[in-house]
Amino acid sequence: MSNHITSDPPSRRTPEPVHPEHAAAPGVHRHLNLIAGQWVPPSGGAYYSIRNPARPGECLGEFANSTAADVAAAVGAAAGAASAWADTPAPQRGAILSRLAQLLDDSRDELARIVTLEQGKALGEAAGEVGRAAAEARFMAGEAARPVGSTYPSERAGLSCQTVAEPLGVVATISPWNFPVVTPVRKIAPALAWGNTVVFKPAMLTPWSAVYLMHLLDRAGLPPGVVNLITGSGSVAGEALIHDARVGGISFTGSTDVGRRIYEGAARRLARVQLELGGKNPAVVFDCEDLDGAAREIVAAAFLCSGQRCTAISRVIVSDDQAEALAGRIVDYVSRIKVGDGLDPETTMGPLVSHGQLRSVAQYVRDGIASGCPTLAGGRALTEDPERDGYYHAPTVFDRVPADSPLALEEIFGPVLPILRVHSFEDAIAIANSTRYGLAASLFTSRLGYVHDFSRRVQAGMIHINHGTASQAHVPFGGVKESGQGAYSIGHTASEFYTNVKAVYVRW
Ligand code: NAD
Repeated sequence: MSNHITSDPPSRRTPEPVHPEHAAAPGVHRHLNLIAGQWVPPSGGAYYSIRNPARPGECLGEFANSTAADVAAAVGAAAGAASAWADTPAPQRGAILSRLAQLLDDSRDELARIVTLEQGKALGEAAGEVGRAAAEARFMAGEAARPVGSTYPSERAGLSCQTVAEPLGVVATISPWNFPVVTPVRKIAPALAWGNTVVFKPAMLTPWSAVYLMHLLDRAGLPPGVVNLITGSGSVAGEALIHDARVGGISFTGSTDVGRRIYEGAARRLARVQLELGGKNPAVVFDCEDLDGAAREIVAAAFLCSGQRCTAISRVIVSDDQAEALAGRIVDYVSRIKVGDGLDPETTMGPLVSHGQLRSVAQYVRDGIASGCPTLAGGRALTEDPERDGYYHAPTVFDRVPADSPLALEEIFGPVLPILRVHSFEDAIAIANSTRYGLAASLFTSRLGYVHDFSRRVQAGMIHINHGTASQAHVPFGGVKESGQGAYSIGHTASEFYTNVKAVYVRW
């Protein structure tokens, strides 16, 4: 299959037309916005192209560069579809999500290939992401039919008291580029289960998976206008979306800085937010009998998706007496990572998503080397000419990193793992809590006392004992401090964002 050919699956009734008046370059497919069930060109007539990070010379397609007017039309479509969708019996909404889950499973190979092409991650990882999205959609299909309200004893005879959960109405979902399938599904599936309509804006770098997802929703039987897709920039399309007064809630996953900006804007009009933001996730290793197992888990959690995961282990905090042995094992596992084009079945780590991301990571690494931190592995970009040969960076491990180094404090979002050596478990906990983030944290130990201490005292939304920072498809997911705000996503807690509580008193 040529990489230039769109492999969107057949839709039921919303074929994506090629507009001859907006023809793309030969062999390049031009994708449009989806508004009220129709594929429509952007009102300004502007498009942008995306490139394969493994071979940036290869254009993967052109996508609508949407204007504020396009966003307003999409929100209008979602608002128009809201009451009919809210009135659709919840089990019917769940049945559509069940079909979506099945379609995701059935299209796993094709969609995974698109994810690898536009995002860069290894094909096996991409397939795992699609499978995970199917599992989350399936869980939410069930949620649609589960109880959402409560009944209360009444103070007065002849009066009943209950609470019901109502949809917010129109929800904006804004996603980053690192998980272009599972993050949108994590937002859209619960929105639909609890009766909301959606305007979805994917990251600029990964809109192709989003277009594909729209086709799957259509084939699953979703009525027109219930989910609308707007592609384009955060500064134009994203800003227009978050400030539209018809949007009742904003579910955003991305950087802490943009999340803060969205929170401020939403506060002005008292719109609800669900913010899933950055992380600097520690793995603490103390009195650990299975250092090899710890190293294996740490390396997998640190370098999956080339380290571009919000929950990636991005610093190791280890006791002095185990540091040498652990570092040796970490380096051994890192040496087995095969960097290359994600489509190559041998590859276990793909390129970074963009040249900008590569530059940023390479700068952190150069600064780390200049500051005198010993480099145990990697330490450089792998291509002389990234625009020609791909945005590759070697998996990199630094040792003896000081706790106040940018390597230890800042979210690098790349394949870079700093090791910090400490004298005491107290120091380990203090350093674990010393960043502005609080997303995920791992502890590798054989001492039960440390398990309790760590789980209680480490400031993080998710704690993992003796395994890497891997979440599951039905367990609440989120962060504290500057890693998140609002209801945790995944599982039942998502209802706190996607529904309003209404108290109903009935006298008979
Ligand atoms: P980003 O914040 O730059 O962009 C995220 C999304 O927001 C994109 O769709 C972007 O177009 C949009 N956006 C940008 N500016 C906007 C604005 N002013 N108004 C509205 N929308 C705007 O993040 P990114 O670079 O795409 O992703 C990487 C970041 O995402 C990292 O910080 C990572 O930790 C975080 N992340 C967090 C989680 C989590 O669950 N906590 C998961 C994945 C990624």
